[in-house]
Amino acid sequence: MRFGIRTLDEADFRGKTVLCRVDINQPVDRQTGTLKSINRIAACVPTIRELSDKGAKVVLLAHQGSDIEYKNFYTTKPHAAVLERLLERQVQWIDDVCGPAAREKIKALKDGEILLLDNVRFVSEEQTLFEKKLRLTHEQQAKTLLVEKLAPLADLYVCDAFAAAHRDQPSLCGFEQVLPSYMGRLFEKEYCTVSQVMEAPERPCVFVLGGAKIADAFEMMNTVLERGVADRVLTGGLVANIFLASQGKPVGQGSLDFIARSNYSEYIEKAAALYARFGEKIQLPTDLAWVEEHRQEAALGELPGDITALDIGSATAESYAEVIRSAKTVFVNGPMGVFEKAETEKGTKTVWQALADTPGFTVLGGGDSITATEKYDLTEKMGYICTGGGALIRFLSGEELPVVKALRHGANIPESKVR
Ligand code: ADP
Ligand code: MG
Repeated sequence: MRFGIRTLDEADFRGKTVLCRVDINQPVDRQTGTLKSINRIAACVPTIRELSDKGAKVVLLAHQGSDIEYKNFYTTKPHAAVLERLLERQVQWIDDVCGPAAREKIKALKDGEILLLDNVRFVSEEQTLFEKKLRLTHEQQAKTLLVEKLAPLADLYVCDAFAAAHRDQPSLCGFEQVLPSYMGRLFEKEYCTVSQVMEAPERPCVFVLGGAKIADAFEMMNTVLERGVADRVLTGGLVANIFLASQGKPVGQGSLDFIARSNYSEYIEKAAALYARFGEKIQLPTDLAWVEEHRQEAALGELPGDITALDIGSATAESYAEVIRSAKTVFVNGPMGVFEKAETEKGTKTVWQALADTPGFTVLGGGDSITATEKYDLTEKMGYICTGGGALIRFLSGEELPVVKALRHGANIPESKVR
């Protein structure tokens, strides 16, 4: 048991039918029916292999795309082929989620065999809009079609989908009401790593918050400062521009226009309030960079009036790197500038190199932050790269994750109660 949730060490899986929820949601090329990336599939291979090795009949549940982000809404068939290659063992697949065909296939599984069901979001109660509009309780989720049809065929439920832990849906929170439940190895690693950062980080603990998802950055910053988790917050990207503006510092008219156009003007006031309370812990850039034919940089007092700041300046990047190199824990979400372009990547590149060099433990999350890590070939040098962007942000914003709550509930269901 860790953080109130059972681990895979606590069950005897031999001969048991295990429903295992994974997050293998990947961008899809619908034209060719192929996946554009497989990193999430690779991340849950250890759990699937362990269950199969221990003699479980492994039934994998997964979603692909969603009703709000329809372009990736697709079958899980290509995922089965990728899994088969990574696991080097057969992975069965069926174009059904919980109908009679799927149920027959589950009943026919032998010890160690693996079956991937089709996209769970093909079942209406799994829809994201359903989750938002109806808000089923976990007890109600246990009465949905998916859970009522599949739970009676299974002995145990395993969730390895930390990336979806902020979702309140039957495949994620319903089975824990009726089956003894466990977290998979990836879930364990990710959840326990971020819980450790929140509850007892080694100090100094530094948060590096940049990028452009302002609401998320502000919520995280507020939580980690209020709870005394962060000793220092380094700001970059659009987050930094908003803080500078809140302090009446010159950031260029282009930057202010961009903030207004993005509907982030209200955050200037919020930044002022946060800075008034925690100013001594929040570090702001002392110089900024913009592009006018090529990269240009200047200290705040010397910025031309009309520029749009797209990166932190070199002096700021160096001073952030220094703080990071002497930190014991560093959490990072969001790049320091528009790192996708060569002229405005220097801040991110310098800070990311410091993340790779620091002897402190680094935790990094967020799609673009991970892309930057890959771009600079630093993946192996980070302490931990979290696959669960949304879940991570919700957790660091101080919210209880629905799947964590459900798994704690499922940890109290004794194994002997089943069948
Ligand atoms: P993550 O995906 O790591 O959580 P975000 O999505 O919040 O990060 O932010 C990444 C995006 O922010 C990138 O596309 C980057 O170009 C953009 N960005 C960074 N700095 C700025 C800036 N100063 N102005 C506008 N956009 C920025
Ligand atoms: Mg992003």
